[in-house]
Amino acid sequence: MGMQPKKPALWIKDPLAILAVGAERGIVVQDDRIVELVAAGRHPTTPDVATYEAGDRVVLPGLINTHHHFYQTLTRAVPAAINRELFPWLQALYPIWAGLTPHALDLAMTVAMAELMLSGCTTTTDHHYVFPAGLEDSIDIEVAAAQRLGLRVLLTRGSMNLSQRDGGLPPDSVVQDEDTILADSERLVRRYHQSGAGAMVQIALAPCSPFSVTTSLMRSTADLAGRLNVRLHTHLAETEDENRFCQEKYHCRPLDYLEDCGWLSERVWLAHGIHFTDDEIKRLARAGTTIAHCPCSNQTLASGACPVCAMEEAGVRIGLGVDGSASNDGSNLMQEVRAAFLLQRSRYGVTRVSHRDALRWATAGSAACTGRTDIGEIAVGKMADLALFGLDELRFSGSGDPLAALVLCGAHRADRVMVGGRWIVEDGEIPGLDLAALIMRHSAAARVLQSGR
Ligand SMILES: [Zn+2]
Repeated sequence: MGMQPKKPALWIKDPLAILAVGAERGIVVQDDRIVELVAAGRHPTTPDVATYEAGDRVVLPGLINTHHHFYQTLTRAVPAAINRELFPWLQALYPIWAGLTPHALDLAMTVAMAELMLSGCTTTTDHHYVFPAGLEDSIDIEVAAAQRLGLRVLLTRGSMNLSQRDGGLPPDSVVQDEDTILADSERLVRRYHQSGAGAMVQIALAPCSPFSVTTSLMRSTADLAGRLNVRLHTHLAETEDENRFCQEKYHCRPLDYLEDCGWLSERVWLAHGIHFTDDEIKRLARAGTTIAHCPCSNQTLASGACPVCAMEEAGVRIGLGVDGSASNDGSNLMQEVRAAFLLQRSRYGVTRVSHRDALRWATAGSAACTGRTDIGEIAVGKMADLALFGLDELRFSGSGDPLAALVLCGAHRADRVMVGGRWIVEDGEIPGLDLAALIMRHSAAARVLQSGR
C-alpha cells in the first residue's frame, strides 16, 4: 500500500550532437533530473530505461531568458514608437500601456511564454512594472499562466513610483506608492516563491530603472530582498540619456547611484549594461553582479553594444535576454543567441567569440543571472531541462558541424522541449495550446489597446 510505481527513466539516446562532455550516447532522465551521461561505446547503467531516439536531434541545455516584458507583446511595431530611441520610445508607449486590462495581460503573457518555449527556452524571467488601476494582481495572473504552460519562471515584482509630476518619465496613472509596492512585493514572495533545487516559480523584486523610481524605493526594495532572500533586478547603463539623467538628478553615474542605493551585490542582475567604464566593470566583477545582454533590443533602439568579452574577462557573468516585445519585437531566444554571436563577434573578432560562447551565455551564463546552480547545464544532478532541435529544415541542408549549424544557419524553432523531465513542446507544438485561437484573441486585444478604446 502507498507505493507509487516509479516512472521509468528515459534514455535520450544517440543524439546527433549534444552540448555536454562525455554524453556521446545521450543522457538518462529520472523524475525531474539528469541522472546519467552515457559516454561513447557505453550503455546506461540505470535499470529499466525507456528510450527516446534522438538520432536526428541536437540536444542543448534548455535556454534561459534573463530579461523580458511579456505585456509588450501587445505593442509590437507600434507606429508611434518606430524609429525612436529609448526615452522618446518610452514616452510614446506609456500612454498605451496605461490601458492594459487583466484579460489582455493574460493573453500577452501566454503569447510571450509560448514563443519562448517554441524557441527552446525552459526558464524565463519577466520584468513587469506597469500597474495601472485594476491590474494590481498582474503577477498572480502571470504565475497562473506559467503554471498552465509548464515553463520554469523567475517572475519579478516590478515597480515605478517616480512619475512626471515628480520629474520622472512615466505618466502618473501607471505608478504606485512605495508602501503599496513593498506590501505587494512581500505578499507575492510569501505566496509564490519556491527556494532550492527544482523550483518552478520564483519571485524577484525589480524597480524599473533609476529614472522611474525614487531613491527611497530603491533602498527599501534592496532591504526587503535581503530580508526575504530573493533576487533583485533593474535596467542599468542602457543609454547615454540615462547617464545624463543621473548626472543631472543625482550628480553621479548610474553605477555610483546603484551602489549608493545598496544594490551593488551578487543578489543583483542588471539588464543591458552597455555604458560602463573599465573601472565600473571591475566593480561589477568584485560585487558578483551579473548582466543580461539583450542584443536585438540594443540594436533596435540603437542603444549601443554591451562589452561582453571585456566583462567576462574581468569576471562578470553574462546571460542573454530577448527584452520586451516593443523593442525586439519577438521572443525567440534561439535567434537571440545568433544575434549575440553576430554582434559580439563583429566587435571582438573570430578568435574571441564562437558559437559555443553564445550558447554558453544563453545557458550557464543565464543561470548565473537567475542565481541558480540546478539549471543551465547538462550534467548529472542538474534539472532535466532540455531543448532538442532538428536539422531537417531547408536552412540546415548541407551543414557540417551540427552545433555550429544551429547558430550559423539560424535555428529558430525547437522540435522538443523538456522542463523538469516533462515534455512541454512536442513535435514543434505545445500540447493543449490552440495557437490559432490564441493569436486571434491576442491580436484583437492588441488592436483594442492600441486604439485607446
Ligand atoms: Zn527591458
